[in-house]
Amino acid sequence: MALPDFPLSPIIVWLRDDLRLSDNAALSAAASSGQSVIPVFILETDQTHTPLGGAQCWWLHHSLKAIANQVEALGGQLILRKGNAREQLEQLADETGARSVVWNRRYSRFGIETDTKTKAALQDAGITVRSFAGRLMHEPTKLKSGTGGAYKVYTPFWKMFASTVTPRAPILAPDALRPPNTQPVSAKLDDWDLHPKNPDWSSGLKQDWSPGSTGAFERLERFLESGLGTYDRRRDFPAIDGTSGLSAHLAFGEISPAQIWARVDQVADALPVDDVTTFRKELVWREFAYHLLVNFTELKTTNYNGQFDQFPWAENSEHLNAWQRGQTGYPIVDAGMRQLYETGWMHNRVRMIVGSFLVKHLLLDWRHGEAWFWDTLVDADPASNTASWQWVAGSGADAAPYFRIFNPITQGEKFDSDGAYVRKWVPELAKMPAKFIHKPWEAPRKILDFAGVTLGENYPHPIVDHKQARERALDAYQTMRGLAA
Ligand code: FAD
Repeated sequence: MALPDFPLSPIIVWLRDDLRLSDNAALSAAASSGQSVIPVFILETDQTHTPLGGAQCWWLHHSLKAIANQVEALGGQLILRKGNAREQLEQLADETGARSVVWNRRYSRFGIETDTKTKAALQDAGITVRSFAGRLMHEPTKLKSGTGGAYKVYTPFWKMFASTVTPRAPILAPDALRPPNTQPVSAKLDDWDLHPKNPDWSSGLKQDWSPGSTGAFERLERFLESGLGTYDRRRDFPAIDGTSGLSAHLAFGEISPAQIWARVDQVADALPVDDVTTFRKELVWREFAYHLLVNFTELKTTNYNGQFDQFPWAENSEHLNAWQRGQTGYPIVDAGMRQLYETGWMHNRVRMIVGSFLVKHLLLDWRHGEAWFWDTLVDADPASNTASWQWVAGSGADAAPYFRIFNPITQGEKFDSDGAYVRKWVPELAKMPAKFIHKPWEAPRKILDFAGVTLGENYPHPIVDHKQARERALDAYQTMRGLAA
C-alpha cells in the first residue's frame, strides 16, 4: 500500500464497526506512515443514533477488551471516549497534538451523516481526515445496474458481483503501533456498564460466543473444515450447526468479508461447487442489503414499496408480547424466539418463519419485529436487519410476496422433522412425539398426558388459528392494494 502523506504528528485512528487489526485499511495506513498512532473507540451517545441493543452491548464490551489487548501487544493503547464523536475527536486532537484522523467508512444513515459532519468540522479545524473502505467487498455507492441506477433485485446484483467484482486482497495487521510520547487519558470500559449486572443475564451468550477477532477466525476455520463442504444441503435445518455463525463477528467488523472470501478461495477447489457458491451468495446478500441501504437511506423506518404505507396493521400488545417471549403456541415460532432471547442469535430459516408469523399471522407492523431483533440479536446490523424485515414483510426490494404465507406447522415439519430444535428450546414439549410436536393441539389426550403437556397451562394454546389468520392476512393485503390503487 502506498504511504499516505500525513502531517508529522500523531494520527488518530477512529475505530467503530471495524474492531480488528488485520484488513483494517485505516489502521494500516496510520501505522505505515511512521507516525505515532492513537486508536480510539467512542461510545456515541447522540440522540439521533439508535443505541445498541442489550445483546450487542454485551458483545461490544468483550470485543473492546479483545482489541485493547491486541493493540497493547503491538505497543499501543486503545483509548476509550464517550459522547459526541466530533467533540471527542477535537478534544483528543487538542490533547495530543494530532493533526490527522483516519477511519473506515460506515453506511448507516446515522453513520454517513455523522461522518460527513465530523469530517467537515475537523477539516475546518485544520485536521486532515482520510476515510477508507473495509466493511464491504465493494463500495455500495459505486455499483450501478444496466440502466445506471441502483439494483433493486438480488439475482442481477449477484450476477454482476460474481462476474465483475474482485474482492480486495486482505491487508495484513501492522507489526507494531508506535505510541505517542504521552498517552491521552482513556475512559474505563467497566464504567460504561455495557456488561449486564443485577441481573447478569448473559450466561447464554457467554456459552455460545467468543467476541473478538481471535474468536472470529477460530469460527471461520471450524466452518471451513466441517461446514462449508455441506453448506448448501444443511444450512436450512435449525437443529444442525450447518452455517458459519460469523454474522456477529461481521457486524462488529472483527473479521472482514474480504478475509472470509479470500479463505474460501483457498479451500474452494477441494469442495463441492454448489456449497461454496451458496455460501458466497449469502455473503453477497449482505452486500446487497448495504447497496439498498445507501440508495434508500430511510430503509429502517419507511416501506421501500410505498404501497405498504396503506397496510392496515393491527395494534395488539398482548400478541406482540407473546411473540417476543416465545409464547405463541406455535412450537417452531416459540423455539426461535426463545433461542434468540437466550443466545442473541436465531437460525436464518427460523428468522423467516417468526418474521412471517409476526407480519402475517399477527398482522403486526414489521417495524416491531425489526426493533425487537435490534435489541436482542448479537448480529443486529443496520442493513441486513432492516432489509431482511422488509423482505419478510413484502414491502422490501425483491421481497417475498406478502400473499405467500408461511405455514408454521408445515415449515416446522419440513425443517425440523424430528422436532429436535423445538425440544431443545421449548423443553415443555420435549416428550411430545415427532408427529405432534409442531401441532400439539391435535394430539390425543393420552399423548399429551404422557408428554406432560397441558395446553393453556404449561404450554399455550395457539394465539391465533392458522387458517383464520391466513384469511385475515390475505384480506388485509387486498385492502392495502385497494387503498393504494
Ligand atoms: P451464514 O449462513 O453462515 O451466512 C454467512 C454470512 O452471510 C452471514 O454471517 C451474514 O453476514 C451473511 N448473510 C446470510 N444470510 C443473509 C441475509 N439473508 N441477508 C444479509 N446477509 C446474510 N443478518 C445479520 O447479519 N444481521 C441482522 O440483523 C439480520 N437480521 C435478519 C432479520 C430477519 C427477519 C431475517 C429473515 C434475516 C436476518 N439476517 C440478519 C440474515 C441472516 O438470518 C443472518 O445473517 C444469518 O442467520 C447469520 O447466521 P450465519 O452467520 O451462521 O450465516
